[in-house]
Amino acid sequence: MVFEITILGSSSATPTNNRHHTAQYLQIDDNYILIDCGEGTQSQLRRYDIKLNRIDHIFISHLHGDHYLGLVGLISSMHLNGRKDKLHIYGPVGLAEIITIQLKYSDTRLVYNIQFHEIETDKIYTILDNASITVETIPLNHRINCAGFLFKEKPKRRRIIKDKLPENFSLQNISKLKRGLDIVDEDGHLLYKNELYTLDPKKNRSYAYCSDTCYSDTVIERVHMVDILYHEATFLQDLKNRAIDTYHTTALEAGQIAQLAKVRKLIIGHFSSRYKDLTLLLNETKTAFENTELAIEGTKFIIEE
Ligand SMILES: [Zn+2]
Ligand SMILES: [Zn+2]
Repeated sequence: MVFEITILGSSSATPTNNRHHTAQYLQIDDNYILIDCGEGTQSQLRRYDIKLNRIDHIFISHLHGDHYLGLVGLISSMHLNGRKDKLHIYGPVGLAEIITIQLKYSDTRLVYNIQFHEIETDKIYTILDNASITVETIPLNHRINCAGFLFKEKPKRRRIIKDKLPENFSLQNISKLKRGLDIVDEDGHLLYKNELYTLDPKKNRSYAYCSDTCYSDTVIERVHMVDILYHEATFLQDLKNRAIDTYHTTALEAGQIAQLAKVRKLIIGHFSSRYKDLTLLLNETKTAFENTELAIEGTKFIIEE
């Protein structure tokens, strides 16, 4: 089962020569997800060979331009490509209105349907729940309404040890074993003890996406022990005052959050365009949390089963 994050952009505010605005592509099993959609995202998707029409869910954290100005372009290209499947877009109040008005005045009548899901950014709740994953909000502390997203695999079933099963073991009994039940006869006598025929389920992987926000205790609670945390790190600690004024986080603070939340790995991004050498940010974060990597465009982060 795939669990893979591809970084498409990691620049805050203004793009640079080699850094695009924020966007990430996330595949979990057969869920194809785009997180934020800054300017240039559809070009980035093409550059990294990701089929636009495969995307079925788009999550927009907030309505600062560096997180969604590529959205109407992507929607239009999906239309021109003859998309058929419904597209689900999750975002704060105002997003549906903005997109609808752009389509209206270009007289674009989409050949597919969009379903907008307005999210309440100050509330913790589940916004998507399907057969394999859940997506929950992470309220963030930013200048405007802003939410991060917590992607989690659903609990998995126990794994059958095939070599140990007798021949012609019924599908019904296999299903029972996978659900953790023992097999008993009509009189309730034990026939097959579950733990002798199954292994523990594979773990439920998780990914937390947090951009943009200032340092927040809520985030620390919400991302406790996730496999990977993506957290913004817009400035170095020497610009802490600037970070406070603009509701952003410093590289050191991002590391402290990861350390306090006991996450397995931290990815930092949303870098200010003033930084040409990102190792400065990386090194500062690593003073608080060693297992940190930079959100470099084109990098894939895989969470193993
Ligand atoms: Zn931003
Ligand atoms: Zn912002």
